[in-house]
Amino acid sequence: MEKVADGVWLLRGDFRKAMNVYFLEDEGGVTMFDAGTKAMVKKVRAAAEQLGGLKRVVLGHAHGDHRGTAPSLGVPVYCHPDEVADAESDDWRWRYLDLSQLPVAPVRWIYPLLLRRWDGGGVKIAGTVSEGEEIAGFRVIHFPGHAPGLIGLWRESDRLAIVSDVVYFVDSARLRPLPHGEASVPHPAWGWDHDKARESVRKLAALEPAVVCAGHEEPLRGTNLRETLERAADK
Ligand SMILES: [Zn+2]
Repeated sequence: MEKVADGVWLLRGDFRKAMNVYFLEDEGGVTMFDAGTKAMVKKVRAAAEQLGGLKRVVLGHAHGDHRGTAPSLGVPVYCHPDEVADAESDDWRWRYLDLSQLPVAPVRWIYPLLLRRWDGGGVKIAGTVSEGEEIAGFRVIHFPGHAPGLIGLWRESDRLAIVSDVVYFVDSARLRPLPHGEASVPHPAWGWDHDKARESVRKLAALEPAVVCAGHEEPLRGTNLRETLERAADK
């Protein structure tokens, strides 16, 4: 586990250690943001135990590689209202997923196997969280696009943004990392509405974050992240 900021821990697991789960210190225990893949259940349990015990899970969005451990942890699970139906659905192939848009054939073929393996299935949602609500000292922000009910968490005091798949630091269509320090809007093959996904990256840029912790790969830090993110949104 890696401490990424005051009271915030990152656990990286599964495929190329690219699946991120965040633990936020929360009144003696931890709240978990995003739930990784099914293969991470044991590691997630052990990490939460070490941090004082898991109180609840908040899903950044409902895709299988972000809800994978959620049904197995025995704590209440929350998400945005626009994400509830997809989170509770047992289908690993979400309704707007369109792998035919991926340009590289082997990548197109391997994803159904990966997505099925990563997913833990549908999870009962205990309640919802919307823009402006407070979670463990962070403010919830709605970033629709990659998923309709995609949310991120924002902490003004250290300009820390934890944003699930609002932005990628990896070329998911070719399964290789982006050059260090670069970001991109997630490929439309995964997304619900690509124009809205671009707008959401601009919304994140406008916050002028100092650190962006995404759903995959290492956090992005720097003094000019607004510029980096605006460039990604325009590409
Ligand atoms: Zn996703």
